[in-house]
Amino acid sequence: MDKSRVAGYVESIGELLRGISDAIWDYAETAFEEYRSAAILRETLARQGFEVEDKTGGIDTAFCASYGSGKPVIAILAEYDALSGLSQKAKAVTEEARGGKEDNGNGHGCGHNLLGTGSLGAALAVKEYLAANKVPGTIKLFGCPGEEGGSGKAFMARAGVFAGLDAAFAWHPMAVNAVMEWKLLANYQILYKFRGKAAHAAASPHLGRSALDAVELMNVGVNFLREHLIPEARLHYAITHTGGFSPNVVQARGEVLYLIRAPRLPQVEEIYQRVNKIAQGAALMTETSVEIEFIKACANVIPNKTLGRVLYDNFKAQDLPRYTEEEQAFATALAQTSLKPPGAEAAMFLPNRGKDLAEYTKRLGDKTLCDLILPFDDETAEPVFPGSSDVGDVSWNVPTAQIAVACYALGTAEHSWQLVSQTRSSLGHKGLILAAKVIAAACVDVLEHPELAEKAAVEWEQRLESHPYRSAIPPEVQPRPLGTL
Ligand SMILES: [Zn+2]
Repeated sequence: MDKSRVAGYVESIGELLRGISDAIWDYAETAFEEYRSAAILRETLARQGFEVEDKTGGIDTAFCASYGSGKPVIAILAEYDALSGLSQKAKAVTEEARGGKEDNGNGHGCGHNLLGTGSLGAALAVKEYLAANKVPGTIKLFGCPGEEGGSGKAFMARAGVFAGLDAAFAWHPMAVNAVMEWKLLANYQILYKFRGKAAHAAASPHLGRSALDAVELMNVGVNFLREHLIPEARLHYAITHTGGFSPNVVQARGEVLYLIRAPRLPQVEEIYQRVNKIAQGAALMTETSVEIEFIKACANVIPNKTLGRVLYDNFKAQDLPRYTEEEQAFATALAQTSLKPPGAEAAMFLPNRGKDLAEYTKRLGDKTLCDLILPFDDETAEPVFPGSSDVGDVSWNVPTAQIAVACYALGTAEHSWQLVSQTRSSLGHKGLILAAKVIAAACVDVLEHPELAEKAAVEWEQRLESHPYRSAIPPEVQPRPLGTL
């Protein structure tokens, strides 16, 4: 099997891949509880001759499947977790509260069912290539749980599982086809737990000490802090415990979960120390106590132009999906419910590319489904996108590049019912097949031209600026399912 047959092989296993993707959609398991989703991927890989390691990095729902031997060692990343509170119904064009009786209230509002299965397809195709050609090289599919709010890959990186690799490829379902060149933000997530004294709020308020007051004062303090932060920093919070439903009780318990983001981990650390002082100040003001519980962290994403170029050239070599009239009608119906202006995706991907930005805003603005690839540029510095991904910790360990592949209608908001609706449809299926083809072909390029991995490594070293990887997650902190916070 030569490289030209990789795409055909992926097509030939299309039915298997679509079935697995739909099954993971149906399971809709959230962070670190993706037992069935991980199992279906693991079992498929084992049946295809991969050596499968379970519980990689000590995480129950992580795994690593390897095939081949020797260098280069190429990683493909797979995710499969869902989001809570996005109760799902496939192919809906209006907001419908719940799906069938199997519905557990979770939903694949980020398309990780497609993500994991597209990566599986790529790994199976690379295995076919390695088996047929008997060339040196190893393919490793990493099953990475808990991307949503859990930073599973950051815990895996802390355990050292991404060390010693030569290249890593990943992808994400999006509304457009593009090399994903963003520098994403590093972050910390921390739970501040205040404890006070309960008392009758009318009869003996002087005896009570309110933990809810402390939460409110802390948030006010942090909102004043915002003015004195670097402009790229982002601070968000959710009050996760209000102390109950009774206003006539002085609330003895209050908890607030913070997410602190900045371009680099040392900047996040500095803001974290300042937020801690505000929390301690709020406790002092209210005569309550505060416990600071570190939940997770992830590093910023370091893009790689060398591997980005490999992905782009292989993207260009594929036939892009053609959409049927039925698919166009489905996308048009969803576009009518969309919140984003036409062509908005161009601004996400090409914010610092004036001429391209204007051209592609117009071209995408006239469409409901993306049937083109956004241009790649070898020179322009990558934009900072104000989000985060645990791919960051992988990118600090190995040269890493990612693509976005069109899996849903233009204008669809991320983490929405519209996205859930499309990730179990032929639109999503077409995207996952395309992603598998592009990533598999890129892996074959690196196998056939190991100098590409060497060039990528030189670029990666320069970007690290001699800062070795250091996990920001303290050693005693373990990954936790969302519902246990
Ligand atoms: Zn996602």
